[in-house]
Amino acid sequence: MSYTNREIQLAAYPVGEPGPQNFELISSEVPDLAEGQVLVRNTWMSVDPYMRERMHDAESYLPSFQLNAVMDGSAIGEVVASLSSDIPVGATVVHFLGWREYAVLDAAAATVVDITLARAEDYLGALGTTGLTAYTALTEIAPVRQGDIVFISAAAGAVGSVAGQLARKFGASKVIGSAGGSLKAKRLVTDFGFDTAIDYRAGSVAEQLAEAAPDGIDVYVDHVGGDHLLAAIDALRSGGRIALVGAISSYNATEPVPGPSNLFELAAKDATLRGMLINSYFHLFPEWIGKAAGWLADGSLHTETTVAEGIGQAPQAFLDLMNGGNVGKMLVRL
Ligand code: NAP
Repeated sequence: MSYTNREIQLAAYPVGEPGPQNFELISSEVPDLAEGQVLVRNTWMSVDPYMRERMHDAESYLPSFQLNAVMDGSAIGEVVASLSSDIPVGATVVHFLGWREYAVLDAAAATVVDITLARAEDYLGALGTTGLTAYTALTEIAPVRQGDIVFISAAAGAVGSVAGQLARKFGASKVIGSAGGSLKAKRLVTDFGFDTAIDYRAGSVAEQLAEAAPDGIDVYVDHVGGDHLLAAIDALRSGGRIALVGAISSYNATEPVPGPSNLFELAAKDATLRGMLINSYFHLFPEWIGKAAGWLADGSLHTETTVAEGIGQAPQAFLDLMNGGNVGKMLVRL
């Protein structure tokens, strides 16, 4: 049986903010399977901020997307044909050949997941690298201790909304989140269990953080960089910990962005600022899924998805994500 694929290619490297012109939807014939391969009908794909870092002509810590070649990223789908004795037709698998409707891949590059444990799309969100990033940040990188005051930026997003709830589970006495816009800020408190919300678009992050945490903070999970990081270093108490997870405020920058001017405060405060790349922590997946699947099932971990429909909407979903058009995990249903 022959299949026609629709897939998204990168048409041009964006300079500054990307737009629809940087992407192209094309059709191609799905190649025949080789021995040991499976054909997956993708049902969901993920769009993630790190993809912006791959839209450069120069290598960074991630391989660049190639121009006029199909993009890739996390996806989940159902095996519709198999020449592998390891993965049968009908299995649900996560893999890295997103941005297309059909994926042909070696069975070794696919992981079978249990969709009786959670919904398929959860494996791209709370049970995927998103949830694992929040867990790693608050256990390995900037561990939360009983009674800590914790601040999280991009708190209404995929990682941030999970991190806020984990901070509480791990003993934080107060959890503060920042998000863009009054509606999102409100939802941090009503839907995701934050104690206090900062709307960074409404005024100075430093002033709002000082008001929310007059005695300072112990832990900061940084997804944003810039004014958020500066304010968090200022507010950090002695022995405080910062997990450097992302710096989305600078991903579209066309010039090098200066670092925070108050870095030496970290020495004076005996504090740590530690970066993390989630790929180094995949060994924690079984531990994390063991915990998170239970919390999803008993309702004590609340997750949301913002869903775009169809492969043709995938570029816009990515653009919306970069501009805060999501609450929780941004996904494309294929
Ligand atoms: P996300 O938070 O669901 O989506 C990105 C959010 O960033 C948007 O919703 C938007 O929310 C916010 N944002 C965009 N521009 C901003 C700006 N100039 N200032 C402040 N906020 C801005 O994405 P995610 O997947 O959970 O990722 C969150 C961060 O973690 C990203 O920086 C990502 O690169 C990083 N990350 C790192 C790792 C790692 O291994 N180190 C792994 C996963 C994710 P608002 O509406 O609130 O502005």
